[in-house]
Amino acid sequence: MKNRRAYVIGSPIKHSISPAIHNAAFAATGFDARYDAIEVAPDALGDWVRSVRVTETLGFNVTLPHKVNIRRHLDAVEGDAELAGAVNAVVASGTAQGVHLVGTNTDTVGFRRLLSDDADLRLRDQRVLLLGAGGGARAVALVALQDRATQLWVANRHPERARALLADLKAIGLETRSEALALDDPRVVPALREASIVINATSVGLAGEELPMSLEGIRANSVAVDLIYNPLQTAFLREAQRQGARPLGGLGMLVYQAAAAFERWTATEAPVQVMRAAAERALAHRGQL
Ligand code: NAP
Repeated sequence: MKNRRAYVIGSPIKHSISPAIHNAAFAATGFDARYDAIEVAPDALGDWVRSVRVTETLGFNVTLPHKVNIRRHLDAVEGDAELAGAVNAVVASGTAQGVHLVGTNTDTVGFRRLLSDDADLRLRDQRVLLLGAGGGARAVALVALQDRATQLWVANRHPERARALLADLKAIGLETRSEALALDDPRVVPALREASIVINATSVGLAGEELPMSLEGIRANSVAVDLIYNPLQTAFLREAQRQGARPLGGLGMLVYQAAAAFERWTATEAPVQVMRAAAERALAHRGQL
């Protein structure tokens, strides 16, 4: 079929670089489709989803603030999306009854591949300190538990959200010891010293030079991952490197989650290098490289 359509919905959405990434992939593979960023307010979500139940729709990505609430507008939610309680990609397929929409989570795929392909790292037997308890943190925690990290500390500004995250995932990763903490709990200091991987999944550092917490005492040669990709070099990554840790930014995760969605929508291997180059160009265009 010609003229297929894909989207990313959120609010605000105008700074998204996902259209650049996916349109480059469509062009490189000769797939006749277009990807657009659409501003959708929370009270318009149901109407918007109804409007894309048409055969041209391949699917759509979902970002803040809809990753949880999208669920009730879909026909099914599968795999990691069900486990993580968050949907970041929706796959559309035509059936005799109409267009069927299935919610999935490719952030988990993206995060796992960021570690393996960009840092040659697995979470098995690692001690993981995860900062944050939002949608991105849920995907990271799920991967840590699925891949059998030895220890997972989840530290969040509002510790009740860290507790809720671990409670929601308690049936997974029974081999992993886990603990929910407040970001300012003194027990975070020894966790930072012991962790082999420290992951910033808060939004602190998106708009400035702040750190989610002091990195004083981070282990030398531990890996410091920031899910933030814009800017590419965050204060968290710079400070972690200054303290002797290996920094790993979030751009790879964005590209790999996009690649996984592209493959679900098109049944075509994603041109990952093309997608990464498009992402870097889009960020450079915004003055962030
Ligand atoms: P979210 O659901 O809104 O969660 C935001 C998180 O940041 C919460 O844990 C929140 O803590 C914390 N936070 C916000 N302001 C804070 C502050 N001033 N001090 C301490 N903590 C603060 O967002 P999200 O979807 O998880 O995204 C989080 C970050 O990850 C964003 O920067 C996003 O761009 C990035 N991300 C990247 C990718 C990728 O592909 N690279 C994928 C997903 C997310 P409270 O719960 O206490 O409010």
